Amino acid sequence: MKSTPILQISGDSGGGQLLRSALSLAMITGLPFRMTNIRGKRPKPGLMRQHLTCVKAAAEVCDACVDGAELGSVELVFRPGKVSGGYYSFAIGSGGSTTLVLQTLLPALLHAEKASTLRIEGGTHNPMAPPFDFIEHCYLPVIQSMGVKASATLERNGFMQAGGGVLTAEIHPIKKWKKLKLTERGALHESFGRVLHAHLHRDIAEREIATATQLLEWPVGQIDLRYANDSTGPGNAILLGARFENVCEISTGIAQQGRSAEAVATGAAKGLRSYLASPAPVGVHLADQLLLPMALAGGGVFHTLSITDHTRTNMALIEQFLPVKFTVEELKAGVKKIRCD
Ligand code: ATP
Repeated sequence: MKSTPILQISGDSGGGQLLRSALSLAMITGLPFRMTNIRGKRPKPGLMRQHLTCVKAAAEVCDACVDGAELGSVELVFRPGKVSGGYYSFAIGSGGSTTLVLQTLLPALLHAEKASTLRIEGGTHNPMAPPFDFIEHCYLPVIQSMGVKASATLERNGFMQAGGGVLTAEIHPIKKWKKLKLTERGALHESFGRVLHAHLHRDIAEREIATATQLLEWPVGQIDLRYANDSTGPGNAILLGARFENVCEISTGIAQQGRSAEAVATGAAKGLRSYLASPAPVGVHLADQLLLPMALAGGGVFHTLSITDHTRTNMALIEQFLPVKFTVEELKAGVKKIRCD
């Protein structure tokens, strides 16, 4: 029996992200935790398939003892062992997000003794999760600038509900973290747009392109149409981006039944417009995803647009596991400074 005191975490202040961050932190620190009320305020509380895959994958990577790893479970006890690098393959068994599984494991595998290769099967472009392109162009470049040696490859596109998408990743043990400082965007290098389209009527993609082109006042032809016919099932995603010297932002719309093509494209275009209206480099999603690497690096600072619930709950959770303190300061309307010491 291990004698390390167990951290008690109430899961009802957050969603799946709180659980995934707790798994990453437990793997890295070796601290066991008990999470109660998992996803307590969500319409369907408890572990869904994607969360369960994260738990099982984390347990395999660090040889953990786990209680409560079942679909629908609202309580989980996770006692981590030692993180081992190597080859791992995980299948979510539905269209659940592969990128969220990647983001759970990557920080821990940086602390393994040898390099790792991950293969994760499921959805690569999902609602409420980073699309693969966001991992490639927004998340990885920032953590690479902090000393991380990791890359990810999209092997096959996958959408909800069929899944079947595949990403692979190579992760090397970190030699030395560099503290994050991301307070300026730098010069704009390019604006870009893409509609990824699989086994659906072409008209949907064309209406999305027309809507986004008009709302962003972009020249006709700036948004590419790419067929993702390698996907097992139908799906569509619109990705609208701006690449600056120091950072890249992508705003995404994922087609879902019952939402018009115009509504999907409008959501994505408005997301990019509100990012461009602020000088802050770190978008709202990237902000909650950078907190953990920043804390692991022992501190840092970035400017973001606004503080979401994800950001707030993630900061509080990280402070439970690591000897760091986050502070938030409003610099001006639409620009918040997040500091970690
Ligand atoms: P729940 O169903 O409980 O809400 P979940 O597992 O689906 O849980 P969240 O807790 O909502 O996930 O976390 C989703 C993560 O995906 C967050 O880190 C968020 O920033 C990120 N994310 C969501 N949408 C996007 C997007 N369009 N681009 C980039 N990242 C995104």
